[in-house]
This record gives sequence, C-alpha cells and structure tokens, in this order.
Amino acid sequence: MTTNLHATLKENFGFEKFRPNQEEIINCILSEQDTLAIMPTGGGKSICFQLPALILPGITIVISPLIALMKDQVDSLKANGIKACFINSSQSTEEQQFYIQALQANEFKLVYLAPESLSYLENLFNSITISLIAIDEAHCISAWGHDFRPAYTNLGYLKNRFPSTPILALTATADKATRTDIAEQLNLVNPQTFVASFDRKNLSLEVRPALDRVKQIIDFIDRKPNESGIIYCLSRKTTEEIAEKLQKIGIKASAYHAGLDNQIRSTVQDAFINDECQVVCATIAFGMGIDKSNVRWVIHYNLPKNIEGYYQEIGRAGRDGLPSETILFESYGDMIQLQKFASEGSNAQVQLSKLERMKQYADALSCRRKILLSYFGELVTENCGNCDICKNPPAFFDGTIIAQKALSAIARLKESEALAVIVDFLRGSKNASIFDKEYQYLKTYGIGIDISWYDWNQYIIQLINLGFCEIAFHQQNKIKLTSLAKKVLFEGEKVQLTTVQKIDKTKAEIKER
Ligand code: ADP
Ligand code: ZN
Repeated sequence: MTTNLHATLKENFGFEKFRPNQEEIINCILSEQDTLAIMPTGGGKSICFQLPALILPGITIVISPLIALMKDQVDSLKANGIKACFINSSQSTEEQQFYIQALQANEFKLVYLAPESLSYLENLFNSITISLIAIDEAHCISAWGHDFRPAYTNLGYLKNRFPSTPILALTATADKATRTDIAEQLNLVNPQTFVASFDRKNLSLEVRPALDRVKQIIDFIDRKPNESGIIYCLSRKTTEEIAEKLQKIGIKASAYHAGLDNQIRSTVQDAFINDECQVVCATIAFGMGIDKSNVRWVIHYNLPKNIEGYYQEIGRAGRDGLPSETILFESYGDMIQLQKFASEGSNAQVQLSKLERMKQYADALSCRRKILLSYFGELVTENCGNCDICKNPPAFFDGTIIAQKALSAIARLKESEALAVIVDFLRGSKNASIFDKEYQYLKTYGIGIDISWYDWNQYIIQLINLGFCEIAFHQQNKIKLTSLAKKVLFEGEKVQLTTVQKIDKTKAEIKER
C-alpha cells in the first residue's frame, strides 16, 4: 500500500510523528495480519486502529468493554472529522436501527460495539464489509488477566466468522501468560506481537509504610496546591471517607466508585478533567479510558491486588511526559484482606501468587522500576535513579556467589520447582519434596547449607526482582531463568545483593490502627 502514513497522521490527528510501535502495528494491520499490541496506558493505542480505519476500504469494528466511554471516544473522533459511531444498549432501538442503516449505507468508517451487542448484529455483519476488527482492553478475555469480563469470552468466534479480516488485539496489561492466552482465545492466526516499552521514566516510584496515611496525604497535597491527582482505595467506603476528610480542610476532592450513579460519576470525571476537582478518591473503577494528560500524582492508599493493576493505575499519572509522583502505602492489614479476597475468588492460586509478588515489590530493596519492567518481561541492567530505593539505597554486598548457587540450583532442577523446593534443595533438606524426585543425587544439592532458609528465600526474591529469574504464575509458580541468568552463570557477571533485613513496616502500622 502506498499511503503515506505520516501524512495521514498529521492531517487527521494533528500529530507530527508516531509513538513507538504505532507505525509498525499499523503496517502489520495493513498487510492483513493478526496483531497483538501491548502498550502501556497512554502509549497511544487508539491511533493503531483509528488510522488504518481511515485507509482501509471497509468498516472498522472496535470492541470495547466500556459503554460509558464510547460516546467520548466517538465525539473526539468526530471532532477530528472522522466518521465514527457506536451501537450499544444505552441507545433506544430506533437509534440503534438508525446507525445500522447508516453503516449499511457506508456513512461511517468506524463503529464501536460492546461485546454483548455482537449477538444481535448478525444482520449488520451480513450487509457490510468489515476491514478490521479491533479489540480494545483485550486482557478482559483472559481469566488470567486482572479484569476478566465474561462477555469477552465469546469473541473467539469473530475469527471463525471473519477468517480473512485482520484482528488487532490491544491491551496495556498483560504478563506473558496472559498475552498467550489472549491470542489463543481470540483464535488469532500467527499474530505479530508488539510490546512497547513499559518504562515511564517520568513517574517517580515510592513505597511508604501505612502509618498515618491521611496525614501523610494531606502534607503531600499541601505542597502541591495546583496539581491534581488520584488516590486509589480498595473499598468504596474508604474513597468516601478520605474524600470527606480532604473536603473538610478545603481540598477539592470527590469520591468515585461503581456504586455511585452514572450522573454523579460523569460529573466527577468531567470536573477532574476540567481541573475543577483536584483530587479523586477512587476505586479501580476510575481511570480506564480517562484521557487527562496532566495528572501529576497517583497515591495507592491500599496495596493493589497485583502488579498489572498497580502499573496501569500509576500509569494514569504524567501522560504528558512531565515528572509525576507515585506513592504506594504498604499495609499488613491490606495484605490480609486481599489474601482473603483472592483465596475466595476464582483462580485463587494465581491471584494469591500475584498478590505475593505485589508484596515483594513493596518490600523490595532494589530498584523498583527494574522490578516492574522485569515483571513485564523487559530486562534492564541500569538502576533508574527515580525510585525511593535508588534515591536512598540500602547497603549492597557482592552477592555473585549466592546468585550463582541459586541460579544453578534452578537450572539443575530443570526450572520445574517453586521457591520452597529450591531453597530445600540448596539447603540439602531431607524431606519428601527432595527425596520423592531423588533431587539429593543432583549436583549442587546442599551447596547453600550455610545460609538460613529465610535468607535464601529473600535472596531468591531479590534475584527475581533483579530480573535474573521469574515466577511462572500459571505453572504452579515454578521459577524460571531469564536470559540475564546466563550472564551470571556463564559470563562472570557480578550481582549486588542487599543484606536481608526484617522489614518492620508492619510494626509501624500497628500504631496507626
Ligand atoms: P492508550 O489507549 O494507549 O491509553 P491513547 O490512544 O488514549 O492511549 O493515547 C494517549 C494520548 O496520547 C492521547 O491524548 C493521544 O491523543 C496521544 N497520542 C497518541 N498518539 C500520539 C502521537 N503519535 N503523537 C502525539 N500524541 C499522541
Ligand atoms: Zn530505581
């Protein structure tokens, strides 16, 4: 195709150049290939289907889970002169019929649909040419992701129904297993996968003990009277309580959660976007799709359920690229409560492991950005300089030998065991988990007897945090080596570890309660 993509970008969207991966993704779609696009929030996913929609001869269908946001998305497209509409249950039957006919008359290039609507649109599908199917927030199809929506599970039929139409699946949040799951469930054919860097250098990262949280928050906001931010809370009740406390001292704050009626929710959202409300105290219901570029900070009042969610939420800060702050309050009480939720929900084991990983992040003594990026499969060697650990580093020692022992134990165990067995193996334990598989005959069995069980656990968690190995959540938490491990095992790379400390964040908090 000879279309000049840059010219199309400039003319229709007013942007000078593509963001990372946008152009590659668009080219992939234009060559009619199935595509999986993984980009952080604010990375610019929409252009990846909106621009091809303008070029392709037929109609582009966009599946989105957020009926409430379709109108905004369509309005902003219209503002750019792009012919777009949506069909969903918020419209009357007449209205829906109107748009169906208009689509049949080729009056639109893009149509946004909710996954629930597909079943009654067969007539429409039979009478139009569909050039592209874009599936936004594609992680909603995976029970492994953090925002599973049952209506998404039916989307697998699209590929069977339209075998020659390219599908573009987009998401901001996918660990490796979820990515594979998305592609499988959507029946994508040899999908080209693009993973944009998740590094958002402009976001500072900080974890604080949950001690006098409200006071800390007020002090924080006092120092930045003209900067808006979001406080994420676990419960609806907490959002209201904190909003009230902030309002009492004259801060323009509002609560936002799924229990409020639509009217109130959109008022809060609009006020926030227009800088009339400075602080939104919200559950995770707030944010998906909200396009406010100057959110200057995000605070997590409670521990998030997992790193995907956490990363997406802090990602709502600083979309304009300017320095923005994030603070996470770590609380033992939250951990207990979240453990309870996770163990009662579906897929309990995976959710619990992900929660544990979240806690390890909060407890970590190594560069937090490294941990986040390695979680998303990006291995970096440099420390970031913009997290609390980098700014105030703990004492390091040469942990190369420890790392070599641990990583070679993982290799000897064929990357098929979880943390506890690896530590047993290193320590030469004589229990069933070792003897049943005859691990005692393997080389390196018992080479770590000089280090306590607790310390080994902490060291291996540090190695995970540093990106030398990773937890396979969907394979019984087996620990796998990453490509960085090879450098340590075979190329003499040095590893810096920190002395194991008994972190006392929990004690600090007991005073608060
Ligand atoms: P996502 O869906 O990945 O969170 P959006 O598609 O909403 O991100 O884009 C985030 C912001 O970046 C929007 O304000 C959008 O207009 C802007 N944007 C997208 N692509 C570009 C580009 N190539 N140049 C400049 N701004 C862009
Ligand atoms: Zn750092």
